Amino acid sequence: MFSNNRRKLLQASGVLAAAGSLGVAGRAQAAAPRVVVVGGGFAGATVAKYVRLWNPQIQVTLIEPNPSHVSCILSNLVMTGATGMSTITLRYDALRTKYGVNLVADRAAGIDTVNRVVTTANGSRLPYDKLVLAPGIDFDPIPGLDSAVLPHAWQAGPQTLALKAQLDSVPAGGTFVMSIPKAPYRCPPGPYERACLLADSLLRRRRAGKVIVLDANSDVVAEPHTFHTAFQTTYAGVIDYRPSSEVLAVDWAARKIVTNWETIAFDAANVIPPQRAGKLVAAAGLLGSDPATRWAPVNPLSYESKLVPNVHVIGDSQGTGQPKSGHMANAQAKVCADALVRYFAGEQPDPAPMTSSACYSPITATTASWLTVVFAYDPATGLMKPVPNTLAEAPAPTKGHYEDMFGWARNLFADSFS
Ligand SMILES: Cc1cc2nc3c(=O)[nH]c(=O)nc-3n(C[C@H](O)[C@H](O)[C@H](O)COP(=O)(O)OP(=O)(O)OC[C@H]3O[C@@H](n4cnc5c(N)ncnc54)[C@H](O)[C@@H]3O)c2cc1C
Repeated sequence: MFSNNRRKLLQASGVLAAAGSLGVAGRAQAAAPRVVVVGGGFAGATVAKYVRLWNPQIQVTLIEPNPSHVSCILSNLVMTGATGMSTITLRYDALRTKYGVNLVADRAAGIDTVNRVVTTANGSRLPYDKLVLAPGIDFDPIPGLDSAVLPHAWQAGPQTLALKAQLDSVPAGGTFVMSIPKAPYRCPPGPYERACLLADSLLRRRRAGKVIVLDANSDVVAEPHTFHTAFQTTYAGVIDYRPSSEVLAVDWAARKIVTNWETIAFDAANVIPPQRAGKLVAAAGLLGSDPATRWAPVNPLSYESKLVPNVHVIGDSQGTGQPKSGHMANAQAKVCADALVRYFAGEQPDPAPMTSSACYSPITATTASWLTVVFAYDPATGLMKPVPNTLAEAPAPTKGHYEDMFGWARNLFADSFS
């Protein structure tokens, strides 16, 4: 291990490269600091891009098994057929060609946080000076639920198309049952948006069915005014909203869902299980020993783990209490990238970071609402807190918001991946 003085010297010269590295073959010769990023979603792609943009001397390697990222944002519109997979499929090419990110098409399988090495499923060993984990979410098991058969579609890709097939399979007058897990989960308004679009789709196809929404929460978690209004007016008689209803088991063969209150028959279903940080986060010891801890405790000035030094966690896996959205993942990634660039220059992180989140929710085939909030670092508590009067939802869904949604999404996609 390097002494603090030596580390400071190398940081100050901007070439911290070999700290703690003598046990790793070839590492002592490396000239540049090494950042390894795991996961190429909104969080991982953005941090990889911005570290390189702000200091091209830093080597950045992004480990991601998929050839492109399929965005959850706008994916409910693929479910309804309003748009196609190509709209939400984001390529990694620009990260490599424009910013010089080294892409490793593999899955991170293990992390040695003492010797600072990531091992991949194919057996590569990637040493790092700083590691950023952005693996998104993992799901709790639900007895009888096989997501390969009954999709959650809370990670986009094949699951999105499987959900579309569920929707397309609803017979005339049939029942679609969907469930919402206890918060916090990815994209607070997302499940309510999905309920609206399922109902809209059934109405437009003249199937006159029913959408039963089982919410494990005691009330609508996000945009309550917008969604209560939609459920009670636009979709009155179609959406049947049942709060405090937790899915305990699924019987696929009998097409029944068991909740804490009742057993419900379905023709098609979408069970979204309770969520936690991506698997690798727990495996690396970043959740500590309490099994109740679902999200990684981090310092929001740099997103460095509070438990394991030199490992940063951003995006949906982090546990700062900020909403789990792609917009927020992108904002956190920039705070983290800035902190990493400063670290290698021997500087402290920005003491007053701010982040923001925005979610657009289509409510019908032609209208959408939005939700937004700004967060600022509170030095007294060390937490990110909502800035007063910034938490806002659209007064009503409109056609204009629906059009703005595509511009907002295009900007976010470009800022993260292009
Ligand atoms: C229906 C829906 C609608 C949404 N709408 C909005 C919206 O309007 N606005 C908004 O801001 N957000 C929205 N979101 C939320 C947004 O999609 C997520 O918050 C965002 O994707 C989180 O980004 P992330 O990078 O943390 O995780 P992810 O996007 O899930 O990326 C994680 C990546 O890590 C990779 N990975 C995982 N494990 C490993 C491993 N071991 N090795 C290597 N790679 C690994 C995965 O392959 C994946 O590419 C929506 C979500 C849903 C489901």
